[in-house]
Amino acid sequence: MLKTALVSDRRYMLHVAGRVHPERPERVETMIEMAEGLNRPGLAPLTPREATVAELELCHGAAYVAAVEKTAGMQRFDFDPDTHTSPATWRVATLAAGGALTAIEAVLGGAARNAFAIVRPPGHHAVANRAMGFCFFNNVAIAARALIERHGLKRVLIVDWDVHHGNGTQELFYDSAAVMYMSTHQYPFYPGTGAIDEVGAGAGRGYTVNAPMPATFGDDEYLRIFDSLLIPIARRFNPEFVLVSAGFDCHYRDPLGGMRVTEAGFLAMTRRLKRLAAECCADRMAVVLEGGYDLRALADSGRAVLEELGREADEPVPAPVAGGRAIPIIQRARYFHDRLWRLD
Ligand SMILES: [Zn+2]
Repeated sequence: MLKTALVSDRRYMLHVAGRVHPERPERVETMIEMAEGLNRPGLAPLTPREATVAELELCHGAAYVAAVEKTAGMQRFDFDPDTHTSPATWRVATLAAGGALTAIEAVLGGAARNAFAIVRPPGHHAVANRAMGFCFFNNVAIAARALIERHGLKRVLIVDWDVHHGNGTQELFYDSAAVMYMSTHQYPFYPGTGAIDEVGAGAGRGYTVNAPMPATFGDDEYLRIFDSLLIPIARRFNPEFVLVSAGFDCHYRDPLGGMRVTEAGFLAMTRRLKRLAAECCADRMAVVLEGGYDLRALADSGRAVLEELGREADEPVPAPVAGGRAIPIIQRARYFHDRLWRLD
């Protein structure tokens, strides 16, 4: 049984995104209750710390960070039509970025083999100088940059299975060979980015891997994309740390997404990434919550991921039997990546 750090806090409920808003405090409450009810040995609860301004500025401009800080105590400020603050948003957003940092620190320090950070607000749409899509600070991107700049790692992998493309994360590392960004997402869909030919630029060419998919794809299609595209490239990249932008809005019950992933699908994706982390980086892996707007889907999927994180990495990884609809996407993506990554 692997030891997993479970980073969460009921203070994540203090950010109110709007009177009626899918990104609501109950999302975290549901996940915390699920984790508390889970009788899993080796689960180490950890209280997140707040990210410092300097840590936020690893990914965000100083003027933008100051603009978010200025909303502290304000009744409401609208960054975009979907992204509103409440009086506690600044503190909760720094605690969300800090939650991702707490997770990587627990793993790097040896307190746990891997980590699951249940945080909100989410992060992957946040770009350097703008909040958007319910996101203020890019929690996973800040953790990735901290791993590189503060902890001296050379190669960090981010896998983003949220139903939306993580435009913020992609943009922050688009020309970087130190952070590889991989995304499976519904397409075309919000926020509009994540086309198959967005593969990175300059030194980062080949270090962005997009698998845009039509609605209705489910476990088999996702797993084919993992097995035939993402994992082979990730192996070549040979990461020193695996970060997961874990949105559960590709679950079949989700009200915003149009995908059909089940709990078994999340478990199987986690198993593949855990095996990769075992091969490449002594299990070092942190899963960070992004989207997911159906409470039951969140609890069920979160439980599957949390239980899987505890299992040793030598469990079988059965290949998907169906999912042939994913083959054209794999072929088109490999058209761009085969030469760069010398895949067989
Ligand atoms: Zn999402």
